[in-house]
Amino acid sequence: MKNHHEYDTAESCLIGRDPRTMSSAELEALGRPRVSRGDAIRAKCIDCSGGNAAEARRCAMLDCPLWPFRMGTDPFREPKSEEQRQLASQMAKARRAALGKDQDSIGLGPSL
Ligand code: SF4
Repeated sequence: MKNHHEYDTAESCLIGRDPRTMSSAELEALGRPRVSRGDAIRAKCIDCSGGNAAEARRCAMLDCPLWPFRMGTDPFREPKSEEQRQLASQMAKARRAALGKDQDSIGLGPSL
């Protein structure tokens, strides 16, 4: 497995690898848990706020690009309809079943 960095010969220094070229398994092997963008932004904001979630909530740095997203949600996105929520739930169940993580839901019993 490759490292999380590579050598940039033009700049003669180590640079971070492009995550677009990395698999989920490679990222997880580096100790990067699988998280959503919203959760990653929330974690960054709490970190920026000295580890205090309440302070992240109170952040007044409007010029920060993360400010609208600091609570872990995208306020620009239209809320999902009930139909969209149900479809997303069914798709998530199917994905978990396909990955063998939720075999009970498809009647196969727990994975061994
Ligand atoms: S919005 Fe920007 S300044 Fe505010 S807590 Fe998040 S990262 Fe820090």
